Amino acid sequence: MTEWSLQALERCQTLDELASVVRMCRRCELRAGAHGVVFGEGSPAARVVFCGEGPGAEEDRLLRPFVGAAGRLLDQMLAAMGFERFRDVYILNVVKCRPPQNRIPTEEEREQCRPNLLAQLRIINPVIIVLLGATAVQTLIDPAARITRVRGQWFERDGRWLMPTYHPAALLRNPAWKREAWEDLKRVLDKYRELVDPGHDTPYYPLARRSEGAMAGVRQVPPKP
Ligand code: SF4
Repeated sequence: MTEWSLQALERCQTLDELASVVRMCRRCELRAGAHGVVFGEGSPAARVVFCGEGPGAEEDRLLRPFVGAAGRLLDQMLAAMGFERFRDVYILNVVKCRPPQNRIPTEEEREQCRPNLLAQLRIINPVIIVLLGATAVQTLIDPAARITRVRGQWFERDGRWLMPTYHPAALLRNPAWKREAWEDLKRVLDKYRELVDPGHDTPYYPLARRSEGAMAGVRQVPPKP
């Protein structure tokens, strides 16, 4: 059985290897109250990662990320973008174990889980990370950042492009925010077309509707081997 350690994380070269290490993690108290570790899911070759806060009740029961009501909305958002969760993206959370009563994970819990998250990002090596909600933003951009202030803006970190937007659970509580969230996701699609796949199309944001100069100077990132 694989023990959790920072060295074990660093040795992992595939998501399957990493998942077997992270599932042994007992670094914070969240694991004791959770059914198990929700590692994440999607395509290992994804160039776009969606990062949420932590598993909820349904996620903890099924040990899969974003499978409750918020997950269904995320799947709809992905579909509107022309993406599918197992084909085009990878979905994960800042903390891998469910916080009790779905409370926000503490700073210490997030810090304890950070090596797991960073190891996932190292292996997936995405070009774009969509940060769903304040916890993801505060973990990967700035502990003091407020989602309402930073959403819709690009941040570059370690050669990756980070786009903060609302968490789907927040959109369920505040449907009026969906319009702004879609604007953020359209920026993600622009960046995806610029850096990953100039031909990526979706009827909800067709290529033809983009400005004429948008394709100029396209710098395409080669697909993963
Ligand atoms: S939440 Fe993260 S750090 Fe805490 S026990 Fe689970 S995997 Fe480990």
